[in-house]
Amino acid sequence: MRYISTRGISPAKGFAEILLSGLASDGGLFMPEAWPRMSIGGETYVEAARKILGAFAGDSFSSGELREDIESAYAGFDTPEIAPLVEIAKDRYLLELFHGPTLAFKDIAMQVLGRLFARALAKRGGRATVVVATSGDTGSAAIAALGGLPNIDLFVIHPHNRVSDVQRRQMTASPHGNVHNIALEGTFDDGQAIVKALFADSGFAARQNLTAVNSINFARIAAQSVYYFTAAAKLKAPPVFVVPTGNFGDVFAGEAALRMGLAIEKLVIATNANDILARALATGTYAPGAAHATLSPSMDIQVASNFERALFEASNRDAAWVREAMQSFAREKTLVIPPEALGNLRVRYAASAVDDSKTLETIARIHKQSGRLIDPHTAVAAAAAEKIEANGPVVILATAHSAKFPDAVKRATGITPPLPPHMADLYEKKERMSVLPNDLAAIRGFIEDRTAHP
Ligand SMILES: *Cc1c(COP(=O)(O)O)cnc(C)c1O
Repeated sequence: MRYISTRGISPAKGFAEILLSGLASDGGLFMPEAWPRMSIGGETYVEAARKILGAFAGDSFSSGELREDIESAYAGFDTPEIAPLVEIAKDRYLLELFHGPTLAFKDIAMQVLGRLFARALAKRGGRATVVVATSGDTGSAAIAALGGLPNIDLFVIHPHNRVSDVQRRQMTASPHGNVHNIALEGTFDDGQAIVKALFADSGFAARQNLTAVNSINFARIAAQSVYYFTAAAKLKAPPVFVVPTGNFGDVFAGEAALRMGLAIEKLVIATNANDILARALATGTYAPGAAHATLSPSMDIQVASNFERALFEASNRDAAWVREAMQSFAREKTLVIPPEALGNLRVRYAASAVDDSKTLETIARIHKQSGRLIDPHTAVAAAAAEKIEANGPVVILATAHSAKFPDAVKRATGITPPLPPHMADLYEKKERMSVLPNDLAAIRGFIEDRTAHP
């Protein structure tokens, strides 16, 4: 399997190479040259992951290597189902994606990616510098996956004072010397822009062997497509999936599953007050507004990197148009989606924005109805699901454990969800982080300083 760039200029590469580089050198995102056809029936989660990731990995890893890494990645989850599907009302389901070590769905892909990454790096030789901008959950998942590994330095940039206490502590309490936490005096979008600028600095990127493990890394999309298959396999009719969306990685993994042959009724993009995607689908104009801090901070994102992948597909893979459109978007901060591409997007996607008060109301309502505590991100999707008139099953992606966002859950229900036993000592651990200004040169200097290995 070869991977091409959404912007059409970078040469095609193999799986191990795109795993280690993350972003294409022309600024685009890697996509498989062709989608493999897949069908999943009674397989276990691990078997399904081996089958799907096997198709994407091609000959980059042997099936024995993949098996070892996938099995050990999921051995650390607290249920052998990995992504259980729970019915909460007639034809309404929660797909629980938070059973990994850091209590959010990012673990599902990151635990596999970390292992494959270390393996590919050992084969290639040399060091790698991983830089990731996080709205809260990718950072801790990356630290859980890469902390302590040899020949890797991991820099995690989170927006200072804009993540939950639990999210911050999960990152800053890491004891590993190769983990460097940066609290950026800015928003998630500022952090993401800095990461993109670091990649665009080709001298720096080459000296550092810079790489990205956020959802612009296609390996994550591939790993996340698995739970769409395993969930649908448990249902009698093609489901509507309602996906709490920030950077568009998770919902695009749904499109990936669809393109591999999975029958999906609709993919619903659920956003909080940062509703650029909902507006884009409604009006055809993709234009970021001001960033709002909400109760669902992992979705406080204006510019959704992976939307470029959806645009690539919706334009029938017109890389020249995507390149032009993304370059002009970077200048003008507005992108007008041509009618045909917009029509294509609307065939698969619907969107709905949910504010904080509706989010709290929904946490309270689901608790009353089912006795379950859901986190505010899941609640955004659950609120969006309420508006859908579907005849068949509706699956709400439950992307985080309620204990990761205890303040919002307490406000809604009066109950403080307890941390699971393996994290009970989180508040006693020493924190390590550096508060840095929203300034490219300052971040670059910090990285150079920390990676000057004697
Ligand atoms: C990252 C995250 C999201 C958004 O996922 P994207 O792939 O960025 O769209 C939603 N909920 C939680 C809890 C997250 O951590």
